[in-house]
Amino acid sequence: AAKSSRPHVAVLASPGLGHVVPLLEFAKRLVINHGVHVRFLVITTNEASAAQEKLLRSLPDGLDVVDLPPVDVSAVTRDDMPVITRLHAIVDESLKSSLKAVLIELCNPRALVIDLFCTQAFEICSQLSIPTYSFVTTSIHFFAFALYLPTLDREVQGEFFDLPEPIEIPGCPPVRPEDLLDQVRNRKIDEYNLFLLHISRLPLAAGIFLNPWENLELVPLRAIREHSFYLQIPTPPIYPIGPLIKQDETLSASDEECLAWLGKQPSDSVIFVAPGSGGTLTAEQVIEMAWGLEQSKQRFIWVVRMPSDASASATFFNVGSDVNDPQAYLPEGFLQRTHGMGMVVPSWAPQVEILRHSSTGGFLSHCGWNSSLESICHGVPMIAWPLYAEQKMNAAMLTEETRGGRKASNRIGKESDRTGRDREGSEVGDGE
Ligand code: UDP
Repeated sequence: AAKSSRPHVAVLASPGLGHVVPLLEFAKRLVINHGVHVRFLVITTNEASAAQEKLLRSLPDGLDVVDLPPVDVSAVTRDDMPVITRLHAIVDESLKSSLKAVLIELCNPRALVIDLFCTQAFEICSQLSIPTYSFVTTSIHFFAFALYLPTLDREVQGEFFDLPEPIEIPGCPPVRPEDLLDQVRNRKIDEYNLFLLHISRLPLAAGIFLNPWENLELVPLRAIREHSFYLQIPTPPIYPIGPLIKQDETLSASDEECLAWLGKQPSDSVIFVAPGSGGTLTAEQVIEMAWGLEQSKQRFIWVVRMPSDASASATFFNVGSDVNDPQAYLPEGFLQRTHGMGMVVPSWAPQVEILRHSSTGGFLSHCGWNSSLESICHGVPMIAWPLYAEQKMNAAMLTEETRGGRKASNRIGKESDRTGRDREGSEVGDGE
């Protein structure tokens, strides 16, 4: 009875840990800091993601996971579909079959919060008079570009990649065509049109939550606020609430083993190599990475996945449940030769605990936005290896705006819990 007297909100994330992680964190803060009762709606299919299941365990009282009735997506998806095309098909299948009924069953929550790719919910919620908010799970730089995309779509002929000059986004740093996200690479295919469709629906939001790091993104934030044409009229209110990063992890026995090994290494000595939740390397890249790590003679923790020559995001929908035997694809003898110097972790490592640890000295990252924020907040310098989606834009922004990931971490490293660590360099955001 006590629970039912609290305001009650629903949160819905599209598939992919890069969406689920920050929305779950947002839900936790609503519960813990604001006394809200949250139902976290999960899209479930015939495909499992063990990493996601682990994430959804051990939640605070007042945060309930509600699985939407599972949908069989085998008829509408294929492994070789581009990420957003496949994600759209899954979300569509799930929401059209059950979202309205589930919201009614939950006695119409006071609001629904969704990410950028669940915009089918706007229409369903408007029928039920439930205000729907968007939560942007990536940078404001990227968000400003995305908001401006419908205008670019009207004004630019041909492919954006063929433009001879960087693309001007009002009030924002220009975007080099080569850094553009995969989804706008080919304007003739569904992937582009579906991306544009979801972005074009943003003005329907009752409000938009952004997840920036402090003052790193003041320029695009000001641009969005000052140029009302970004969102058309009426402009939904914008709430920059970041940095919102994962705080706690549920640790498995192998996570504990990995952290115990890390605990025995000298301060700042270990490089953490991880490709986010969906990232995969080609067979050749895996071999090169292995040789590089071995010959560098540096300590490392490396999250490895079965290589894929077809896609750089091969585990996007099933991470943790992916088939993965490192012996099958790492160079012969690599595990034996690097024993003691490095830790090879199949599929999934406790990333936030590793970044928070004083033995970790660097992060070779794919530059997903959550990983970038986690690294900045824990004062770990990054080496950027963007793989897919908007990661090249993130890498370019982090490198240019902070003039090196290393600089980004300096100031924060001193302010964070990593006492005793003194890094050289100047602060981020000077001039802003
Ligand atoms: N993550 C993790 N362990 C891993 C790989 C990823 O805990 O081995 C977490 C990471 O901490 C982050 C999220 O998964 O919170 C990945 O989100 P990000 O936006 O960085 O990348 P994406 O999932 O979009 O590739």
